[in-house]
Formats: sequence, structure tokens, C-alpha cells
Amino acid sequence: MEVSIITVGDELLIGQVVDTNSAWLGSELEERGFRIKEILSVSDQAPAITEALERSFEHSDILLMTGGLGPTKDDITKKTIADYFQDEMYFDEATFNRIQRLFTKLGRTPLEAHRLQCYMPKKATILRNSMGTAPGMLFKKGDKILISMPGVPYEMKAIMREEVLPLLERDYIQGARYKRTIRTIGNGESQIAEKIGHILDKFPDHISIAYLPGMGQVRLRISGSGEDLNVLKEEVEDFVDQISVELGDLVFGYDEDTIESVIGDILTQKKLKIAFAESCTGGYLSHRITSIPGSSQYLEGSFVTYSYDLKERLLDVNHETLITHGAVSEETVIEMVLGCLNKTSANIAISISGIAGPGGGTPDKPVGTIWLAISNGDITQTKKLSLLQDREKNIQRTAVYALNLLRKFLKEQY
Ligand code: ATP
Ligand code: MG
Repeated sequence: MEVSIITVGDELLIGQVVDTNSAWLGSELEERGFRIKEILSVSDQAPAITEALERSFEHSDILLMTGGLGPTKDDITKKTIADYFQDEMYFDEATFNRIQRLFTKLGRTPLEAHRLQCYMPKKATILRNSMGTAPGMLFKKGDKILISMPGVPYEMKAIMREEVLPLLERDYIQGARYKRTIRTIGNGESQIAEKIGHILDKFPDHISIAYLPGMGQVRLRISGSGEDLNVLKEEVEDFVDQISVELGDLVFGYDEDTIESVIGDILTQKKLKIAFAESCTGGYLSHRITSIPGSSQYLEGSFVTYSYDLKERLLDVNHETLITHGAVSEETVIEMVLGCLNKTSANIAISISGIAGPGGGTPDKPVGTIWLAISNGDITQTKKLSLLQDREKNIQRTAVYALNLLRKFLKEQY
């Protein structure tokens, strides 16, 4: 089944808004075995919208459209589609009642613009919007369908998840699809490709791999299609096992796992608490940990100690150490991590001190020099990273490195 995606809005053409809707739609549909024929972005002008419809109906079976359904004057998609289908508008009571209930809950009254939004083309099947006021619409043209949704990403996603994807899965998917994602950390995609190349050589045509690299992490998505789901599942799982064995410790989880959630699970299970002493990451490591609901179970807290003074006062780092070796040194991160353990009831602590850049480097400590320490009081490990010039990336990379350090420490010591 071929799909065209059309996004409508002047804001998309002039770079005011980045078209994330197409990216999301493309990946959701590709995962389900649809072929994305093309993505078009067009202006809020009736001729542009009509032209896009004509073009896409010619070569695609399913048209997904977002944008231009709102109550403002520039939003003309609905009227244009109605004209395209030579349709008339009617006042849809059900939609208006839903909007009224929503507004009562919010203690507001619907405006005239909201009432106008309830005029719908007669030929449209209404798709409920649980996150906003403008419903989606489905039109049929022979065997082909057009689905029009609001541009607001979370409204579009809600309509897709609740209405459109179930319908597409029911009526338009043939055969079986199966996919697994292996999550790795600590190697780049080329290193991984080299390690697993001999396994990929054995992949049959109906099974494929996609490398999805992120900061310090690579996701490997293995997906296949076939006639029989059970047979396919067994084939894919077998390759997942082979790749996992080959990559060993680089694999930290599967599918929806994140490095933060995996660490959280281990800490909860082992009833361990952690604390951090962060300098150049400015609290970013604890931000990553606190992105997981329930992290209060295992995170004691974090010291963000930028100055010598705070490192001395809060973490008992010796003034001498700072003067002699500098804040960015193995000696300092060791004192920071031990101070952090002393001042909290955490079982494990991590400390970080470095030069994130772009300024502040010296010949013997260039920008990107970052020291980390991890300790449980008995065992203390340190690591020096030599990163590049980009401040934002250095902070993120260091946090990912620290998370992996923690994961490995937990595996080795507990
Ligand atoms: P509303 O009811 O809010 O007016 P609408 O269907 O009219 O919804 P638009 O006015 O086209 O939608 O867009 C609303 C907002 O949604 C835009 O300001 C933009 O921030 C976001 N948006 C629209 N299209 C896209 C897109 N393709 N990708 C990402 N964001 C988008
Ligand atoms: Mg708009």
C-alpha cells in the first residue's frame, strides 16, 4: 500500500515550524509495512492544496494530511477538501456537544470560532480528536482514502493512535510483520556494523536491519515481513539472540527500554541509592535520572558544585587538592565522589568535573577534558574523557558516559 503525506501551512515553508508531523507519520507507517511514496508540504492556499490532492491520489492509495483545520482564517483545508469532493457542509451537533463539554470542564465558553469549526463536509467520516477541538476527517475516493487531521502534533498523534492506525491495521495490512529493537551503548555504528556483519550476511530478503544512532547510543531495529507470524517471530528472535551474544555488554536493553529505565530497574531491585556531584554537567546527569517516574526511590540527590568554594564547603574537597591539581583532575573527582558519599546516605556516587568548552582550555587540559569518578566507598573507579569542542554535546556525552559507567558498575559489583 502506497501512502502520501501532505502537510499544510505557510509556517512550514518559511522555516518557522519544522515539519515533525511527516517524520512521525512516516516512521509509524513504515513500521507497519506501508510504503511512503512522498511527502509534500504546501502553503495555506486552496490551489496548492487541491494540486497536492490531485497529484497524490494519482499514485497513492492512502493520503494523510495534517494542518489547516483550526478556527482561524488561514486554515482553509476543510473547505478546500469539501470543494474538491463537491461536498456541502452541515453543522455537526455531536462535535459541538463534545467541544461544549470540554469547555465546561475547563470553565470556559466556546467562542463563535469554535461553533464554526463544527461545520463538517457531509461526505466525511468524523475522526474523534480527544486532545483538541478540531476533529479529523476521512474521505473515500473509490478504493482510495484521504485522512485530514489538525496540524498540532499531539492532536494529530492522538487521532492517529486512537482512530486511524487501528483502521489502517484492520483494512490495509496484509501478511505478518514483526520487529525488535536492540539498544546498545558505548560503541559507534561502524564499530557495531563490523562486529555483527557476519550475522547480517545470513539475513534472508524478508528480514532487514536499521541502525538508528543517537548520542553515545545506537538502536538496532530488526524487522521482517512474512506469511506466518509465528515463523517470522522465531526467525527474528533467533537473529536478535545471535546479535546480542556477539555484542555482549554493549547491549543494555530492548524495545522501549532506555538507559535510565534500565538503571532505575536495577537500583530499585537491589534497593540501592545513588547521588551525584556534578560540576561541568550542571545537573544534567540528575536531570536524565529524574526523567524516569519513580526515580525518587533511588536518587538521593545531586550537588551541583561549580566553584572551588562549593566543592570545599559541600563536598569537603581539600583546598590544597584544588590548588595543586586543579578542579579538572583525577584527585579532585575522587575527593568529590567520596565527599558526596559522606554527605548523603547513597550507596553509590558519581562525580564529574571537566572543561565543557568552548573556552577555558589549556595546553595540558584542552577543552573536552572531563574526569569522572564512581564509588561505593570500597571501590572507586575513575575515567578521563577526551571529547571535542561542542559544549552541548560534551555535556550530553559525559552524562551518557556516566550512565553507562553506573550500569557497568552495578553489573560488576552487585
Ligand atoms: P488549530 O486547531 O490549532 O488551528 P490546525 O489544524 O489549524 O490546528 P495549524 O494551524 O496548521 O493546525 O497548525 C497549528 C500548529 O501546529 C502550528 O502553529 C505548528 O506549531 C504546529 N504544526 C502544524 N503543522 C505541523 C507539522 N507538519 N509539523 C509540526 N508541527 C506542526
Ligand atoms: Mg495553519
